[in-house]
Amino acid sequence: MDIMRITCPECFAQFDVPDGAIKETGRKLRCGQCKHQWHQLPIPDEPPEIMEPPTKELETKISATYNEFETPPIPENSDIKASANIETKSLPIGAIILVTLIITSIFGFIFGRTIIVAYAPSSSILYDKIGLHVPVPGEFLVIKNVGVWRENRGGMEVLAVKGELFNPSETTQEVPIIKGSEVDATGRVLATESFIPEAATLLPNETIKFEYQTPFPDEKTMSVIVTFSDEKRSSQYGY
Ligand SMILES: [Zn+2]
Repeated sequence: MDIMRITCPECFAQFDVPDGAIKETGRKLRCGQCKHQWHQLPIPDEPPEIMEPPTKELETKISATYNEFETPPIPENSDIKASANIETKSLPIGAIILVTLIITSIFGFIFGRTIIVAYAPSSSILYDKIGLHVPVPGEFLVIKNVGVWRENRGGMEVLAVKGELFNPSETTQEVPIIKGSEVDATGRVLATESFIPEAATLLPNETIKFEYQTPFPDEKTMSVIVTFSDEKRSSQYGY
């Protein structure tokens, strides 16, 4: 440049100085306005550009920093996609449905156990095995020596059922109502009778006999299944 613009550091007055008037080592200048004297070093060409490079550097640094943050998510995303694919492959919908069904069944099995035992008394053994006991009438008592036969009583045919109740436990047990189910050769239940034993309780190791008759039994009756009834026996026996 032909002209160099110099500013007085004291009064900020500006002077145009011919280029080359100030050498690299600088020279003494004297302000024509305020008479201030100072040592002026040569001002490089294109002074505005002195300020620009650092700004650009900052910008590039900032963008570089942002890039550093923006770059990693790309491989991460691909990683997530890859692992998601693996999960989908190892857990097919069928397996998820199966697990859901199993969980639902377990809940139904545990919370509906009273109903299940009522319909299928043998399931109480299963519940006992997994530590979920369901009270069953007469569960501590043993029915034994059951005998069934037909007999004629005064011209009327009856089905006689006879047996024993044994209390093998060490505590006195309540005697439940006895239920007799008459079944045919195929196992179909033809009729069901309830019989209330005379004794209301059974002492430890006590055995009592029971017997009841059913008039006009079905001709197809082949056997009688004796179990305990869910009905709670009444404490009143009057007519
Ligand atoms: Zn000045």
